[in-house]
Amino acid sequence: MSEQHSGRGRGGGNRNRRPSGPRRRPETATEEQRSGNLTTANLLPAVDPPTGFAKLGVPERIDNGLAAAGFAQPFAIQLEAIPVAMDGRDVCGRAKTGSGKTLAFGIPMLSRIEGSAGPSAPLGLVLVPTRELAVQVAEVLQPVAAAAGITVAPVYGGASREHQVRELQRGVELVVATPLRLIDLIKSDEVNLGDVQIVCLDEADRMADDGFTPQVEWILRHCTGRTQTMLFSATLDGDVGHLIRHYLNDPVEVAIDSATDTVGTMHHLFLAVHHMDKARVVGAISESISKVVVFCQTKRLCDKVEKALVDDGVNAAAIHGDLSQAARERALQRFAEGRLNVLVATDVAARGIDIDDIGAVIHYDPAGDAKDYLHRSGRTARAGRDGWAVTFVEYNQHTQMRVLQRMLRLPSNKPIEVFSNDVRLRDLPAFNADVTTDATDQS
Ligand code: ADP
Ligand code: MG
Repeated sequence: MSEQHSGRGRGGGNRNRRPSGPRRRPETATEEQRSGNLTTANLLPAVDPPTGFAKLGVPERIDNGLAAAGFAQPFAIQLEAIPVAMDGRDVCGRAKTGSGKTLAFGIPMLSRIEGSAGPSAPLGLVLVPTRELAVQVAEVLQPVAAAAGITVAPVYGGASREHQVRELQRGVELVVATPLRLIDLIKSDEVNLGDVQIVCLDEADRMADDGFTPQVEWILRHCTGRTQTMLFSATLDGDVGHLIRHYLNDPVEVAIDSATDTVGTMHHLFLAVHHMDKARVVGAISESISKVVVFCQTKRLCDKVEKALVDDGVNAAAIHGDLSQAARERALQRFAEGRLNVLVATDVAARGIDIDDIGAVIHYDPAGDAKDYLHRSGRTARAGRDGWAVTFVEYNQHTQMRVLQRMLRLPSNKPIEVFSNDVRLRDLPAFNADVTTDATDQS
C-alpha cells in the first residue's frame, strides 16, 4: 500500500503545526522527580472537538485529549493505521521519519485499553530503544491520555528506580519502556506484565536487531494476556521478520511512501572536507542554522568534536552512552529549547527523537548504510519542514559515499570540496542546486 502524503504537513496541515514560539518550560527536576519531564515534546494550540480523528473511530474521551493537545487532523500514517488498529488487528506500520508514527500507535492503544491498571500491572506497553525516546513518547501521549483519565509513564534506566516503582504501584495504564530497566523491574516483581493487553514496538527494526532481540522476546513472553501487537518504524526490514512471524497474528501491513522518502524536503549535501578542518566546518554551518545535530560513530569522537567546537567558541554539547542520564537529558533539553546550538551525538539520538526545527544533520563520517543514514538524517525535515543532511567525506571515503548515494537513489555527484572559510557554509542553499536534489524526486 502506498500513498502520497497530502492533506498534512505542508499546505493545509501547516495550520495544525506547532507554533515556533516558546516551548513549555519544565521545572528543574531533582534526580528523584525526574521522569517524564525531558521536554522535547512540542505544544500546539488547542482546537475544538471533534477532531478529524473522531471519524477514524477514536472514542470521544481520547478525541477530547487530541483536541486539547492541538492535533486537529490525522497525518497519512495515522489515517491508515488507526482504523486498522482500532479493529484490534496486529499492525506493521512503516512511514518516513517525522511522519507521526507515535500517534499512529498511541491513539489506538489509549482508545482500546480496557479498564484501569492495578498496582504495578500496566495494561499497555510501548517498547523503545533509547531512554530519551521513552521520555519523549510518554510526553507526547500523556496530554492525550490525561483527558480520558489514563496514566502514561516512562520506565527507563539512568533515572530514579524508586520513583518509577512508586508510580507503577499507583497504577499506570500505559508504560513506555526501554527493555533493560523493565526486565530489572519484572525480575524483582515490581512490575507484572500479565495484564498487558496491547504491545507496540517503536523503532521495531532496531528492537529486532542482535542487541535487543533476546530482551524484547523475553519481555513479550511475559505479556501473557497480550491480544494485540504492533510494530512501527521508518525502515521495517532485516530481522524484524522473525518478530513478525513469532509474535504477530495475521498482521496488516500499513506502509506510507517509500522508506527513502522524507516528510519535508530533505536536501542532501556531500562535502569533501579535510579531517583537520571538520570541526570548523561544523562551526561555520552552525553560524546560520540555529539547531545542528552532528552524528559521530564513537563516544570518544563525540567528546573530541564537542571539545574542538567549544574551544572555537561554538555553543555545543555531547550526548552519548557514557554520560550520566542527567547530563544527556540536560543537553537534549537545552538543545530543544534553543539554548544550545550544536548537539554532538552517537546513535543514541539517531532514532525517534523529535525536536522542532533542527535545520541540519551532519554526518561527521559517511553513515555505514542507508538505514543509518535515513534515521540520523531523519532528525531534520520533520512533519513538513525542510532540512539539510550534510555528509563529510574524506579523501579515502569516496567509495563509501558512492555506495550510500546509490542505496539512497541520490544522484552520484562528487563531494563538493570546501574549507571552513567557504562562504557557502553560512548559506547552504548557495551550494549548487543540482547536488541538493530532494530524495523524493528520485523514487
Ligand atoms: P515519527 O515517529 O514518524 O518519526 P513523530 O510521531 O515523532 O514522527 O511525529 C513527528 C512530529 O509531527 C511531532 O512533532 C508531532 O507532534 C507532529 N505530529 C504528529 N501527528 C500530528 C498531527 N496529526 N497534527 C499535527 N502534528 C502532528
Ligand atoms: Mg517515532
